[in-house]
Amino acid sequence: MRPFAYARAQSADAAIAAMAQDARAAFLAGGTNIVDLIKLDVAQPGTLIDIGALPLAAIEVATDGSVRIGALARMSDTADHTAVRSGAPCVAMALNLSASAQLRNMASIGGNVLQRTRCVYFRDVTQPCNKRQPGSGCSAIGGDDRKMAIFGANDRCIAVNPSDFSVAMLTTDATIHLRGPAGERTTPFLGFQRLPDDPALDTNIVRGELITAISFMPTALTRNSTYLKVRDRASYEFALVSVAAALDVRNGTIHDARVALGGVAHAPWRARAAEAALIGKPAVRATFAAAADAELRAAKPQRLNGFKVVMAKNAMVRALGTLGGAA
Ligand SMILES: Cc1cc2nc3c(=O)[nH]c(=O)nc-3n(C[C@H](O)[C@H](O)[C@H](O)COP(=O)(O)OP(=O)(O)OC[C@H]3O[C@@H](n4cnc5c(N)ncnc54)[C@H](O)[C@@H]3O)c2cc1C
Ligand code: SF4
Repeated sequence: MRPFAYARAQSADAAIAAMAQDARAAFLAGGTNIVDLIKLDVAQPGTLIDIGALPLAAIEVATDGSVRIGALARMSDTADHTAVRSGAPCVAMALNLSASAQLRNMASIGGNVLQRTRCVYFRDVTQPCNKRQPGSGCSAIGGDDRKMAIFGANDRCIAVNPSDFSVAMLTTDATIHLRGPAGERTTPFLGFQRLPDDPALDTNIVRGELITAISFMPTALTRNSTYLKVRDRASYEFALVSVAAALDVRNGTIHDARVALGGVAHAPWRARAAEAALIGKPAVRATFAAAADAELRAAKPQRLNGFKVVMAKNAMVRALGTLGGAA
């Protein structure tokens, strides 16, 4: 491990100012991702700015009914919170299906959204990787691509985003709250995580910005949601494919729908073709199967992961079935 300086910020402004003083500085929240990457020599911060003392861990319900999750809220506390469990059950489910109990007690929501890909070549500094070293090539292309993307990839990067929470948040039209050198701003959750047009950039965060919170408004749609995760083993493992689904069913007809897939793209994948195929249709298995087919028609699997197309279809039908009562 390379030497680095450590500083504990006492305020958001101090944390942001400290970032401006070192071009290689990075924030430290729970440390469950960045410390791994430092040990692997993938991340080489000059200064680690510990934001753990900032008052950003609260989960609150605002007067308008929206739920605001502080960026430093632990994954476990978020999964356990009544407002999250009732307002967007799929979010609590996605968190409880993530990592392990010990990690969930340490890791923060902001860090979860910003965690980096688990691509084995990205984490191995002896291998070319356009994300770690722009222009060096992509070792996954023609290599072990079993866990890689089936949507939105290109000839520069075929990695997938590992965050379960982020997939579930796409069912809620959530907002990310940021504070940086230029002040405060908000941005939609959808689109914050990027496709690999520039593989070095995982998100649209501006250097030096701090995520302060993530908020969403519970609705009839978000309250009827579920999360299904398919993985190589039942615990302590990232998704091969996951599905977050939300349905608003009225008198047997789908009034509104949100579907997102994980483990399939460089960013959580909003399944818009599936949503279009669901809305206005009866909430029955044939509708769910047609919606899954509509979405997966555009999939472009890699050499070793054609199975993800079938897996994603089956997972979508099963997840939607549990919501629509036609499993
Ligand atoms: C063995 C293992 C299994 C795992 N399995 C899963 C899984 O199944 N599903 C899943 O979703 N995740 C999984 N994870 C990932 C885990 O959830 C993340 O490591 C964790 O959420 C990161 O949060 P953290 O607070 O520890 O972030 P840190 O490691 O402290 O930070 C991560 C990154 O975010 C930046 N950062 C953190 N907070 C902020 C902020 N507020 N504003 C700006 N920048 C910030 C840091 O600078 C760093 O770049 C697993 C991790 C491990 C080690
Ligand atoms: S898939 Fe992306 S992260 Fe993995 S080696 Fe290729 S460029 Fe790097």
